[in-house]
Amino acid sequence: MKVLASRPIPGGFESMIRESGHELKILAQERETQEFLAEFPDSDAVVAMLSDQISADMIQSAKHLRIISNYAVGYNNIDLKACSEKKIVVTNTPDVLTEATADIAMTLTLMAARNIYAGQKQLYSGNFLGWRPSGMLGLDLYGKKFGIVGLGRIGIATAKRAEAFGMRVLYHTRSGPKPLVSYPYVPLESLLCDSDVISLHTPLTPETCRMIGRKELNIMKKNAILINTARGPLIDESALADALESGRIFAAGLDVYEEEPKVHPRLLKLENVALLPHMGSATVETRTKMGEIAAQAVIDVLAGVKPAHPVNLVL
Ligand code: NAP
Repeated sequence: MKVLASRPIPGGFESMIRESGHELKILAQERETQEFLAEFPDSDAVVAMLSDQISADMIQSAKHLRIISNYAVGYNNIDLKACSEKKIVVTNTPDVLTEATADIAMTLTLMAARNIYAGQKQLYSGNFLGWRPSGMLGLDLYGKKFGIVGLGRIGIATAKRAEAFGMRVLYHTRSGPKPLVSYPYVPLESLLCDSDVISLHTPLTPETCRMIGRKELNIMKKNAILINTARGPLIDESALADALESGRIFAAGLDVYEEEPKVHPRLLKLENVALLPHMGSATVETRTKMGEIAAQAVIDVLAGVKPAHPVNLVL
């Protein structure tokens, strides 16, 4: 059967699909959009990236599509309702990217708290004039409060890292307090007021879109640090740029952006924000495992077997 992958994927992905007897077309990175749209209707399986917007119209155009295997844990790029109506299974790649993404959340926390970007900029531009008592002063993390919004897989893994740095974890999540979790559960507003670091770990949904705007930034502590490794549209970037420019909050650390791959131009000019190019899951091991899960989902569904990680239909 015909499998379409919108990008080359590291590791054994390609051989797994080919060895299972399917015809695999992998699109080259530079010319993906038009070719993706052209190949989509005739595919039996599509392996999509989080940057591939899969609309209801595209789903309608599909003649015999059985699965969209999303090479990501988030699946906000796919019109799930349209897929379910056409009995197309959507799968994702959870768990294997949890630790790598939590590492990036903690990296951004350290970068933002300790002025790492400003320090590197000073050094690389030849402006490091030697040690000074008041040079590059950041903030301690030890003993501070680390507020997690969305205590799922990555939220919990990030909480463990924050604890290891001597921070006190608190959390807010959609379904209320979790029975086996010992960290204090608080309403979102209290978390925003009380936390020294606020780290976002929810999926992008209509409820979480712009969950951090001007009002929420205004109730944060003056020395608060905001971290986002979830999805860009969770934050109103223009309001965040205002808060960072005015010193309303201390700093931010972002791996994801509202209009990816564009970054808000005002954020690019600031020194109190650490910016990374959406690299939460970017390790060789993680991306390889994600490829294996994505390939196995295709192989399973095309063989009529229930895939390990369906996010809509159960076969
Ligand atoms: P997960 O295990 O499903 O956890 C998501 C958590 O968010 C759940 O605990 C859920 O609450 C909570 N949540 C959902 N809606 C909420 C709301 N309205 N308010 C508060 N909490 C809410 O997912 P995960 O594996 O940790 O991944 C989280 C997200 O990270 C993904 O969806 C993806 O967008 C992003 N991600 C980014 C990267 C990157 O490269 N930067 C890598 C991987 C993932 P309940 O437990 O109450 O249901």
